Amino acid sequence: MFENLSDRLGGVFDRLTKQGALSEDDVTAAMREVRVALLEADVSLPVARSFVKSVTAKATGAAVTKSVSPGQQVVKIVHDELIRVLQGDDAPEALRIDNPPAPILMVGLQGSGKTTTTAKLALRLKDREKKRVLMASLDTNRPAAMEQLAILGQQIGVDTLPIVPGQTAPQIAQRAKTQASLGGYDVVLLDTAGRLHIDETLMSEVQQVRDIAQPRETILVVDGLTGQDAVNVATEFDGKVGISGVVLTRMDGDGRGGAALSMRAITGKPIRFVGLGEKMDALETFDAQRVAGRILGMGDIVALVEKAQQVLEVEQAERMMKRFQKGLFNMNDLRGQLEQMQKMGGMQSVMSMMPGMAKMAKQADAAGFDDKAINRQIALINSMTKKERANPDMLQASRKKRIAAGAGMDVADLNKLLKMQKQMADTMKKLGKMGKGGLMKQAMR
Ligand code: GDP
Repeated sequence: MFENLSDRLGGVFDRLTKQGALSEDDVTAAMREVRVALLEADVSLPVARSFVKSVTAKATGAAVTKSVSPGQQVVKIVHDELIRVLQGDDAPEALRIDNPPAPILMVGLQGSGKTTTTAKLALRLKDREKKRVLMASLDTNRPAAMEQLAILGQQIGVDTLPIVPGQTAPQIAQRAKTQASLGGYDVVLLDTAGRLHIDETLMSEVQQVRDIAQPRETILVVDGLTGQDAVNVATEFDGKVGISGVVLTRMDGDGRGGAALSMRAITGKPIRFVGLGEKMDALETFDAQRVAGRILGMGDIVALVEKAQQVLEVEQAERMMKRFQKGLFNMNDLRGQLEQMQKMGGMQSVMSMMPGMAKMAKQADAAGFDDKAINRQIALINSMTKKERANPDMLQASRKKRIAAGAGMDVADLNKLLKMQKQMADTMKKLGKMGKGGLMKQAMR
């Protein structure tokens, strides 16, 4: 899967990571190659473009971590962006198959692997989710397709709806639903007819079946090797029938595989599974992280950068703790603490996550220590000069006036902030005196 793409990208990043320092030109050149590699893998142009744009923006603004090379950091950024593009902003929920019998409509073009995938999915639901599954073929044009499903059903031990010659697809769908209810099945998989191309007859038949079956999920099966065509098919089916998810088949082949990258970005529909072979167990849950890893083939670098980022955070925290132990706590420290709170989702959420702190969170709220207040306090600190931040004791009336005005607030607000900083500095001093084995050390754990 993705062999060409991962080879190309691997080459680009190998060169990058071997260099010590990265110039903007290096990044630009690398991104040009990334774009070509994506297009060669048949990723659609707008997706490739926005991918490169977003990686460039993130690489430019990224904080430099000492222990890894900038090139390695770029690899990590590309990796994270791949995941984002592959799965959208959040991972998909589980298949909606509660409330039995849950109908799942399988749609797609002929030859995409629809019947095979229907059986693979049935086996998976039976074995992993312990569901009672019924399968029905609605392909009235091709008796061989109906028989194929029946044979697969026998092979995997899943029931299929008996074939009644002469019935239309909507009639079979109705019979399947009734049979599923009567027979106490949890899930009923409906394998619709495919055509070689999308045509009106096919679509209107699938629509009729959909209206009768009222599917909980409509899964489109597409050949992953067909690249942008697969995405076009998905767009068509979604427009005409409405799909809830996609299965990409033949991802075991070393084809171009760009469909996976474009699919989510263009259709907005999650890839649910990938087909990795002809055997019945060759169906994998789509995992953006794993796929991004395969595309890049550089798992070790990604892990290294993640580790380095953790080290960086620990280093910063340790440096801060050393200052606190000496009783040093100026406006820079206060700003660091406030920003930390912001990052963690605000004072209340941080406090309410800690056992026994819910009450204090309410008190903090009452004292005006809410998220908006944090923003205002940071604005005040930003309005100070570097010198003032390091030595808040030097703030006399005229300076105070200037700072408050600069942040659009009153001197009274600033005085409150100064009081807070003083109290915290005093507390730090006391805690620091308790020694290295004391409370501070414990707080670090
Ligand atoms: P349908 O016409 O869409 O129902 O397609 P079939 O289910 O009959 O599949 C067509 C061919 O593709 C069969 O030979 C399958 O074994 C094969 N096939 C299906 N899925 C995969 C897959 O994920 N990988 C590979 N290598 N072959 C597959």
